[in-house]
Amino acid sequence: MRIALVAHDAKKEDIVNFAIAYEAIFSGHEMFATGTTGTRIMEMTNLAVHRFQSGPLGGDQQIGALIAENRLDLLIFLRDPLMAQPHEPDIIALLRLCDVHNIPVATNMASAEMLLRGMWRGDLDWREVTVPLGDPS
Ligand code: PGA
Repeated sequence: MRIALVAHDAKKEDIVNFAIAYEAIFSGHEMFATGTTGTRIMEMTNLAVHRFQSGPLGGDQQIGALIAENRLDLLIFLRDPLMAQPHEPDIIALLRLCDVHNIPVATNMASAEMLLRGMWRGDLDWREVTVPLGDPS
C-alpha cells in the first residue's frame, strides 16, 4: 500500500509517536509525507519516507497529485483543529480529492488507528486491484 502521513505542527509529536508505535506495519509499505513531517519521522524511526515539499510550500498539493493519479491508498492527516493554517485552501483541496477518489483518510488519531488496523487486517486489499493512471493495465 502507498501511505501518506501529514501532521500540522501541533500534531507532529503525535504523528511521530504513531509512526514509532506502528513502525512494524508501516515498514512493509511505501511511505510518503510532507517535508517536515517526513523528516521528523525519519529521525525517530528506521522508516524510508518519500518526502515532498513542506505543506505550506506545496506538499499537500503534491500528495493531492498522487491521489489524482490513483497512486495513494491511504492518507493519515493529523490536522490542528485549533489554529488557522496559511495553506487552508490546500488542505481543503487535499481532503476533497480523497472524497472524489474514495481514498481512506483519517484526520485524528482515533480514526487513524482504526484505518491502520483495518488495513493490516486486509480491509483495504481492494485498493490493490486499482490501476494507477498512466500504468499499463
Ligand atoms: P509539514 O507540512 O510536514 O512540512 O510541516 C504539513 C502541513 O502543514 O500541511
